Amino acid sequence: MAQPDINGLIRRGDASRPAEPKPESVRFQAVSKSFSTRLVLDDLSLTVRTGEKVALIGPSGSGKTTVLRIVAGLEEPDAGQVAVFGQQVWPYRRPRPWRRSDARDRDRTMRHVGMVFQHFNLFPHMRVLANITEGPIRSRGIGREAARAKALELLEMVGLSGFDDAWPANLSGGQQQRVAIARALAMEPRLLLLDEVTSALDPELVGEVLAVIRDISQSSDLTILMVTHEMSFAARSVDRVLMFDEGQVVEDGPAAQVLREPTHERTRRFLSAVV
Ligand code: ADP
Repeated sequence: MAQPDINGLIRRGDASRPAEPKPESVRFQAVSKSFSTRLVLDDLSLTVRTGEKVALIGPSGSGKTTVLRIVAGLEEPDAGQVAVFGQQVWPYRRPRPWRRSDARDRDRTMRHVGMVFQHFNLFPHMRVLANITEGPIRSRGIGREAARAKALELLEMVGLSGFDDAWPANLSGGQQQRVAIARALAMEPRLLLLDEVTSALDPELVGEVLAVIRDISQSSDLTILMVTHEMSFAARSVDRVLMFDEGQVVEDGPAAQVLREPTHERTRRFLSAVV
């Protein structure tokens, strides 16, 4: 199973820096987003600071995944402003042809964002090792040997030593998802987005993936935003919970408080339906 000591494998903070206030990783200001006539994010504002582990909970269709996809640059808001690591990524000023610095700044920022999806999305035609090394080699210019060495360490960290030569199709869903996590970490993200990463798994495979996420969460300074329906996991493993309803955050607070003593009626109803 996962190795708790991931020192050196993923980014860690600088202990000599003052603890408060941590810089912002994500800021949404009055963000709205519709899909056709449906308003999915409704004037949403939120801030997540560096190193925070945040669970996004709430009923299906309340806009949680859309938030992650906007942070990752996979969706564009209709209104509002989005900043990642203090860099405005929306509205996105298209670069003028003679001056590409805007685009470069944005690209540089987005390179520090990693995302893991519900359906793993591994490259089916590549073995496990190549799935993990492809990004660092192609988009980071990391040497093949260095990328391979790091991938093997990450595989060990997610409890999959010896699986480097396997094909994704020959792995269980839980194993594929752990490869997907290793692949995201290989890009050395500062912000990790986890979108219902256990929802597509058979129940007996959920625990092995959550254990890996807990190890990462507890032993790194990564900022983590995760959409999850695993309330008991969230209660034990994240700092903060954002409760979504109809495209707005209706409750925001420490995990123990929101999940155990919710103040908002909508949160209480939601929790009593899912737990
Ligand atoms: P949640 O993660 O809380 O379940 P989502 O952010 O996935 O909510 O979606 C909110 C609503 O937006 C849902 O009704 C969903 O069907 C709709 N939606 C999401 N993405 C798209 C899309 N690309 N095109 C059309 N509708 C979408």
